[in-house]
Amino acid sequence: DTTHGPILYLEDVSVSFDGFKALNALNLYIDTGELRCIIGPNGAGKTTMMDVITGRTRPDTGTVHFGQRIDLLRLDEPAIAEIGIGRKFQKPTVFEQHTVFENLELAMRGSKGVWHTLRARLTGAQRDRIDEVLASIGLTGEHGRPAGLLSHGQKQWLEIGMLLMQDPKLLLVDEPVAGMTAGETERTAELLTSLAGGHSVVVVEHDMAFVRSIARKVTVLHEGSVLAEGDMDTVQNDPRVVEVYLGG
Ligand code: ADP
Repeated sequence: DTTHGPILYLEDVSVSFDGFKALNALNLYIDTGELRCIIGPNGAGKTTMMDVITGRTRPDTGTVHFGQRIDLLRLDEPAIAEIGIGRKFQKPTVFEQHTVFENLELAMRGSKGVWHTLRARLTGAQRDRIDEVLASIGLTGEHGRPAGLLSHGQKQWLEIGMLLMQDPKLLLVDEPVAGMTAGETERTAELLTSLAGGHSVVVVEHDMAFVRSIARKVTVLHEGSVLAEGDMDTVQNDPRVVEVYLGG
């Protein structure tokens, strides 16, 4: 495995809530183009970690860098989104009354003035970009459907597509396959795998079979720091990991 340099580097990050350490000297290094899965029991600190990366929560100590030199702790939440970190929350939030195509159009233009936005003309290049994203999320055939009529899985893919319209370098994805059918889960694995390389992707997920199907490298969080890291077999056979999951 060759390294391409960091897309994300958290060093010695701690976050306390009323004296309780949600993150405890967390170190996390994500290589550019990597697809990383983060697992860990409830309360391990996964959400807090995502909140720190996106500027929603400020760590008490530690450093957070994006790429070689951008200090994320100097940027606020909108600025962090602006420089290329896209976050997908667990629940899909699409514009239900707008078509799939329009949802991607709105995402491309940003949130300023929804009504005005849909009346402005698209350039050929913008149209091509939307078509390209439609194809990559497997929704070309649904482009004219109101998003509210999509299946749960299709809404999740649309939301990933909406993030892609903003050309993120790093995608943070929270429990993408929760509530999905087996077929949808499989297609989500293909989608996220296809995004890696061109993007860096960090996925928080509980579904172990899914994690196994997509991740080359898995990080196990426990009590706010890294308990184990490596490929799925290594991690699952690690006695400390077994104890946390079975003994907990
Ligand atoms: P995970 O996402 O892995 O389940 P979280 O990051 O949500 O873990 O939570 C880590 C710990 O921090 C939990 O014990 C949780 O109760 C606590 N915690 C998270 N956010 C807050 C908050 N805003 N105030 C107080 N405690 C919090």
